[in-house]
Amino acid sequence: MFDKILIANRGEIALRVIRAAREMGIKTVAVHSTADSDAMHVRMADESVCIGPPPSPQSYLSVPAIISACEITGAQAIHPGYGFLSENAEFVQIVEDHGITFIGPTAEHIRVMGDKITAKDTMKALGVPCVPGSDGGVPTLEDAKRIGEEFGYPVIIKATAGGGGRGMKVAMNADEMESAFMTARAEGKAAFGNDEVYIEKYLTTPRHIEIQVFGDGKGKAVHLGERDCSLQRRHQKVFEEAPGPCITPEERARIGKICADAVAKINYIGAGTIEFLYENGEFYFIEMNTRLQVEHPVTEGIFGVDLVREQIRVAAGEPMSFGQEDLEINGHAIEVRINAEKLPNFSPCPGKITAYHAPGGLGVRMDSALYDGYSIPPYYDSLIAKLIVQGRDRAEALARLERALGELIVDGIDTTVPLFHALLQEPDLHSGDYNIHWLERWLAENME
Ligand code: ADP
Repeated sequence: MFDKILIANRGEIALRVIRAAREMGIKTVAVHSTADSDAMHVRMADESVCIGPPPSPQSYLSVPAIISACEITGAQAIHPGYGFLSENAEFVQIVEDHGITFIGPTAEHIRVMGDKITAKDTMKALGVPCVPGSDGGVPTLEDAKRIGEEFGYPVIIKATAGGGGRGMKVAMNADEMESAFMTARAEGKAAFGNDEVYIEKYLTTPRHIEIQVFGDGKGKAVHLGERDCSLQRRHQKVFEEAPGPCITPEERARIGKICADAVAKINYIGAGTIEFLYENGEFYFIEMNTRLQVEHPVTEGIFGVDLVREQIRVAAGEPMSFGQEDLEINGHAIEVRINAEKLPNFSPCPGKITAYHAPGGLGVRMDSALYDGYSIPPYYDSLIAKLIVQGRDRAEALARLERALGELIVDGIDTTVPLFHALLQEPDLHSGDYNIHWLERWLAENME
């Protein structure tokens, strides 16, 4: 096992990794920009290294600075968290070339899954059901129009290098194709330096269901059921839960096995998430994330496992501590993402926290790097806390969520907490009856 690991991240996810490492008796190194000298992850780690000025490209994304921090402190492995360098295959290669272990999948697996066309081809070949669409890239507008006719509108044009909801455009009919095609290409080029796009049938009322998988890199893999992340704003998740309110045990077992078998076959190592759209009882693969997800705590809650501990174990060459037969669902867990944003426009709202009180009690978990007097810097993601609640069933989890939100105090800035108070008044939220468009529609009617 490692003696010391470096966490190439900040905020709540850096704390999450530090906590797992500490329980395993592993020393931790935090890295930080000059804007984060007072951040909680710096305070909580055993050691810290300043790696550059506030802008991420010069600090949290600076590969030389992070490798140097490892060499200075003698850290043997790097945990990337999510975001930043977590899905950067080149970074993983450089880390390994320096004799440092990357706590995550191989550069090759990240590369394959990072390109959406290659990912889809790979998954299809592994027997995973996919959204019908163009097989491969669509080079010209004429091709795009032909495919639109073939599959029938609406269709979605996606940048193959896309991510984070960017580089995607829907064409409802042939007239909209030209503008959607050009915009998706331009966005792909501007944001990811790659203008290749592909086309999929646009599903009109799907839910977002994702399967958590975990592999040991040696041909053994398990699934840890699904998470339903259908409540989204601009393709960004805001409320996640496990198990999915509409998934039966039979469906879970079937799609779970397909996913576990697929990643076992490619000797996948560590945590991964296979994302699907789910409509009329069918699953359609959209992408695989080769890292820990923001919403992993809901899965940890219902299965009672520590996914970060497991990631560290397999990275160190140890066997997984559970098999499929050990994994049983216990209760229901919900996570809400609390952002430093001002409603109704969700404009970023950094600033000084003048009072902070985290909720507690049975079934409440607060993953946050906030503290009283902390100043949220304006340079990074607006996620400031994840409130995770668990109950014996969904109704109890929802009641607990309302109770916990009521206890939470974050003064000095605006947050998205009022959104969740309002959502909890909605009958649809309680019945679980919604698809990925529900929240956008609700926001348009209730917030703008
Ligand atoms: P990203 O990598 O940018 O997150 P994804 O491929 O995961 O992109 O898609 C993000 C979201 O876009 C999905 O959760 C869903 O809301 C929507 N989406 C993607 N593909 C389709 C599709 N074929 N039909 C309908 N909605 C889609």
